Amino acid sequence: MPEPDPSSLRVGHGYDLHRLEPVAPEGRGRPFILAGVRFDHPVGPVGHSDGDAVYHAVYDAVTGALGLPDIGQAFPDTDPAFDGHDSARFLAALRGDLVRRGHGIVNLDITVVCERPKLSPRKGEMVSNIARELGLDPSRVNLKGKTHEKVDAVGEGRAVEVHVVALVACAARVS
Ligand code: MG
Repeated sequence: MPEPDPSSLRVGHGYDLHRLEPVAPEGRGRPFILAGVRFDHPVGPVGHSDGDAVYHAVYDAVTGALGLPDIGQAFPDTDPAFDGHDSARFLAALRGDLVRRGHGIVNLDITVVCERPKLSPRKGEMVSNIARELGLDPSRVNLKGKTHEKVDAVGEGRAVEVHVVALVACAARVS
């Protein structure tokens, strides 16, 4: 991507949280997938789609920067078509939309907060999945894993939380 005109830059923030429960049939949890990487873990996210909180927060950060509908508006959790949906398809739709409109993602900074599993051994896979789905060079995607120091729902392993900041270069000059 060429260096963007500074006046075309917009920042967006995305946030997602999913409750974690024992994986079905013991509970309502789905297999634990983050940024398209499946972790072998006894609990997983409760969600209408596959519950990939990283992909969901990335979607909301990018669309937030552009003032476009968020993921809940674009893919309602009341629509049976999205039950168990592979969230990579949400990013594929987003990528198509960006290409059509001529926007480009400058970079993504992602923070995943969960007590377990340990993300560091799979971080490279997570980054390359996000970059591939959005057609970005992996150097434009940064991902950090944090714990919640054993406090509150996230620290007690009952939820996973993701924050994303996206910088987007808009096709049209922003006045
Ligand atoms: Mg979600």
